[in-house]
Amino acid sequence: MNRRTLLQSLITLAALPLLPACSRAATSAAAAPTAAAGGAVAPLKKAAQAWRGMVSPAAYQVLFEDGTERAFSSPLDKEKRAGTFVCAACYLPLFNSTDKFDSGTGWPSFTRSIAGHTGTARDFKLILPRTEYHCARCGGHQGHIFDDGPKPLGKRWCNNGVALAFVAKGQSLPALRS
Ligand SMILES: [Zn+2]
Repeated sequence: MNRRTLLQSLITLAALPLLPACSRAATSAAAAPTAAAGGAVAPLKKAAQAWRGMVSPAAYQVLFEDGTERAFSSPLDKEKRAGTFVCAACYLPLFNSTDKFDSGTGWPSFTRSIAGHTGTARDFKLILPRTEYHCARCGGHQGHIFDDGPKPLGKRWCNNGVALAFVAKGQSLPALRS
């Protein structure tokens, strides 16, 4: 069993109790051409405040109050090992280390997220519109997508390191939190 298959099985297992309610959505999303890894994720119905105490205050500020960590403050910016980056709140895998690159910005940067595991929204906080993205499961804010990433995708997913946790290859992924 390769890593992708294992990941897929873990997600399938975690999603099992929800299957009767959302099997139709899961089926149609699996057929989508972008579902290279990962797949449709059922959103958690959980108030943001309920995560307080389950994540660090710094992570809470980014995830559920749309904060931004100070550049070069996260050790994950320099994390170069093979592995998986999961949401710091619900532990949904969001990025593979194979899609990480050093953007020099001081924030962990990726060329893409795991398909189906993030959602996006427009953000007008800095007047110029930006594309905000968040964990598809818990809704926790992760970062913004910019168009100055490396070829061929050309995207830079600029992530707050404090909103992620790193799981090195060979270690088992944590069970999803609700
Ligand atoms: Zn999450």
